Amino acid sequence: MNEFRSQMVMVLGLGRSGMSVVRSLTAGGAHIIAWDDNEETRARAQERGVEIVDPQQVEWSRIAAMVPSPGISISNPGIHPIVSAARTANVPILGDIELFARTGQVASIVGITGTNGKSTTTALIGHILEQVGRSVRVGGNFGTPVLDLEPVGSDGVFVLELSSFQLELTESLCCDIASLLNLSPDHLDRHGSMSSYVAAKKRIFSANCHSQIAVVGIDDKYSRSVFDELMESHHSSLVPISAKRPCEGIYVLGNVLHEHLHGESFQTNLDITKGLPGSHNMQNAAAAYAAARVLGICASSIVQSLNSYGGLPHRLQEFAQIRNVRFVNDSKATNASAASRALECFENVFWIAGGRLKQDDIESVWPYLENVRHVFLIGEAADKFSQALSGRVPYTLSGDLQHAVVAAFEMAQTEVASAVVLLAPACSSYDQWSNFEERGEAFQNCVEKLSIAVGPAAI
Ligand code: ADP
Repeated sequence: MNEFRSQMVMVLGLGRSGMSVVRSLTAGGAHIIAWDDNEETRARAQERGVEIVDPQQVEWSRIAAMVPSPGISISNPGIHPIVSAARTANVPILGDIELFARTGQVASIVGITGTNGKSTTTALIGHILEQVGRSVRVGGNFGTPVLDLEPVGSDGVFVLELSSFQLELTESLCCDIASLLNLSPDHLDRHGSMSSYVAAKKRIFSANCHSQIAVVGIDDKYSRSVFDELMESHHSSLVPISAKRPCEGIYVLGNVLHEHLHGESFQTNLDITKGLPGSHNMQNAAAAYAAARVLGICASSIVQSLNSYGGLPHRLQEFAQIRNVRFVNDSKATNASAASRALECFENVFWIAGGRLKQDDIESVWPYLENVRHVFLIGEAADKFSQALSGRVPYTLSGDLQHAVVAAFEMAQTEVASAVVLLAPACSSYDQWSNFEERGEAFQNCVEKLSIAVGPAAI
């Protein structure tokens, strides 16, 4: 990325994406100064040769651009003071996706956003393209940071997961295929309101990308209205996707995928429930199928690849069984909408929920509580959830995950039928862990200990 050759750029936040920005800009001849609020992260970056500069000492007039990590708030409420200082000094504020866009890649770009299902759909499209032998690079908000992706030729494809935070900092990205899966309240603490959150997500669609194909979920009211808006603005090409109803695009109903594109109709059976359980994953499959079709891949190859997809860890991952009790790790269910999709998938659920509350929309799980036998509450949100659940479903305040797992198993094994102990927290993990992966691994470790204590029966 050599646009800033011989100029000074401030990088704020030195995690995985921040460090990729440092590497890329340095390779392109820029002079990088950097900061991270976390002392350990700062020290680690310094050991790796990054020049740390106290933000109080920064001479903003000498800075050509500032690149904050997506985790850093760039607007009110809660704007980071260093971002605020840069803004006051009229320093351009850019994200890593914007820098990537400015490198002028010749390959096709598929962008995926939405509240839930981004990583699954991104990985799924990557899997399909790999299976048919296309050159593909998969990354962005998921896996490899975008600036660490190896270049790929003009017949190759970048498949990028794009978060609302990344899109907020992106102006010139032109996705050949831009996919918005769904929208429900999330990250409102950062965005301030649902309308600003939706506005950030909509930035994936660009009026300047004349041949852009927009693949848009129409199963919830927010994304449906984005679809309607794009339709009214005569967006060049629109493909609706649904896992709930027929539409003039791609839809999946009861394991049958229907394609209605360009006046032609086609339908085929899917066998994806192992790697992609639940109707929400049908939405992801429809989105991935749409993208792959637009990229010219034949229907039967796509279906074969969908059927062979194994799923991602920490997303509805069934990983063990002890006696009649199956254990499912959906640690990535960090909001009520994702947790609802998990509860929808099983009966006799012993549900472990709680963590750091993101927003108060737990009500959206009410319709699925009929599948829940008992709730085990953990973390900061436990009290709040217990008040909301009171009178609707029995619950226990378990405190921590270890106690919740043991208590849930003890109760679940008394069921005559098969039962499921499900971790689907509807909260972020940050009250007790550094990320959802750590929380999911902690859950799996608790179950492993339990299985050793109980005897050999785990699968
Ligand atoms: P993201 O990257 O958007 O967070 P993931 O694929 O990692 O999405 O899934 C996050 C959570 O959302 C998981 O609990 C998963 O089971 C659930 N989920 C996945 N796809 C969807 C969807 N299309 N609609 C609702 N929930 C989904």
